[in-house]
Amino acid sequence: MSHTSTLFPAATAGSWATGGHDGAPLLVIGAGPKAIALAVKSRVLRAAGFDVPEVVAVERDCTAANWREGRGWTNGRQRLGTLPEKDLGFPYDCTTWGDSGDPLVAELAQRMTGFGWTGHLLDLGTYARWIDRGRPQPSHREWAAYLEWAARRADLRTVTGEVRRAELDGGGWELTVEDGGSDTVVRGCGLVVSGPGPTAGVVTADGTRVLDTGDFWRLATRELPVWAQHVVVIGAGETAGSIVRELALGHDRRVTVVTPRATLYSRGESPFENRYYSDPTSWTDLTEADRLEFIRRTDRAVFSQDVQNDLAESAEVSWEPGRVVGTRPSGTGPVSVDVSYGGRQRTLHADLVVDATGGDPLWFTDILGPRADEALRSALGGAASLRGVERAIGTTLAVDGLPAPLHLPNLAAFAQGPGFPNLSSLGLLSDRVLSAYVPFARTENGSPAAAHEAGVPAAASLADQGALHR
Ligand SMILES: Cc1cc2nc3c(=O)[nH]c(=O)nc-3n(C[C@H](O)[C@H](O)[C@H](O)COP(=O)(O)OP(=O)(O)OC[C@H]3O[C@@H](n4cnc5c(N)ncnc54)[C@H](O)[C@@H]3O)c2cc1C
Repeated sequence: MSHTSTLFPAATAGSWATGGHDGAPLLVIGAGPKAIALAVKSRVLRAAGFDVPEVVAVERDCTAANWREGRGWTNGRQRLGTLPEKDLGFPYDCTTWGDSGDPLVAELAQRMTGFGWTGHLLDLGTYARWIDRGRPQPSHREWAAYLEWAARRADLRTVTGEVRRAELDGGGWELTVEDGGSDTVVRGCGLVVSGPGPTAGVVTADGTRVLDTGDFWRLATRELPVWAQHVVVIGAGETAGSIVRELALGHDRRVTVVTPRATLYSRGESPFENRYYSDPTSWTDLTEADRLEFIRRTDRAVFSQDVQNDLAESAEVSWEPGRVVGTRPSGTGPVSVDVSYGGRQRTLHADLVVDATGGDPLWFTDILGPRADEALRSALGGAASLRGVERAIGTTLAVDGLPAPLHLPNLAAFAQGPGFPNLSSLGLLSDRVLSAYVPFARTENGSPAAAHEAGVPAAASLADQGALHR
């Protein structure tokens, strides 16, 4: 069965030009932190008189699903790695929308604080106790409750169902959403893809002795079998880090981590490194080699300092450099894990193997309709590759050269700044994305973002424009 959403009318060809939205919403796949941060910023900007699109999330599960137990990414008790003050509005610099001295900018920041982490605690009546307890990191479950609170407060509209197809349509996007056997079509002026994507995996999971991330968390939430005394975890990023912590500290298991690098590196969290996460000013002035090195040292295949500190308490965690090239089960006994490193191959034996190599960031290319697929190929000059897409991301975190914006913050680290794929600067992420629909909005280096990308002439005075839009 198929029906068209009554939410929004079908677009007539060319009616939704980049740099405007004509009343059509911005669509986000997934109702996680990025969708909620965008909904909050959109609401605050609209309340202040800016003509930005409303945000509509399409979610197959529930708000902040990936931060709750039973969904395959956590048991809900794991602690958030980032400071909770890096919340939906962080870094609260709203100069995309006016000069730093403009009272409008201060007003926007002020309105945003109403959706912050501490606002949530104040609402719960637990703020003073949280301070007295030494500002502990929230669990993923507590973080999900915060996100849900903010989504409600921002009136985030959510369409329930799984996005099965994303197609370009009359200058906008059209999503085919499946829910309980029936399809709904939802249209919008732009599309944001959020979430880590389904786990790709380097070995084939069998659900018993070889698990993927989702299998692991579902099992750990129930009960980890006693026979799983020695576990090999494949991967050395944050997904692997939380699994290793759960195994070693939550279940007293012996863990060997197979990492593609020399050891289990920690995330750099010095003020100098953090600066680029909160404020990517001058990021694009860095050489490509320096940007790649920065991401490798501080973000990819590193454990957070929180995880590292916890793991220091256990003597049961070791590592093996290399890449897993295959696993061989032996009936009900241990699994053989073949590891290749430096041209040599060796075999480890484990009771249980967990493939924690993370999600596939290009998963969305599988759901693109033929027009969108063709347009993406033409914008990239060939088939979508990780490196090709990463290089094509513009200031609004969208792929340059598409007829309607496709924002890919998870792939924006290399071109725009390391904080965009994660929780480090959700406020700035929202400014960048929403600026695509307001011709005079500015990017961090002072150039008018949407005007630049859409060929719309820049407005003369931001102060004047602020007055116009109030
Ligand atoms: C366990 C874990 C802990 C992390 N901790 C931190 C941290 O402390 N700090 C940090 O900076 N980063 C952290 N990250 C990394 C990253 O920042 C977060 O994963 C990311 O910010 C999540 O936000 P999001 O909005 O992109 O997506 P998510 O919160 O992952 O939400 C994506 C949503 O999309 C839905 N969805 C997916 N596909 C479809 C579809 N086809 N149709 C409909 N709905 C769909 C999912 O159900 C999900 O609700 C963590 C990641 C994980 C997995």
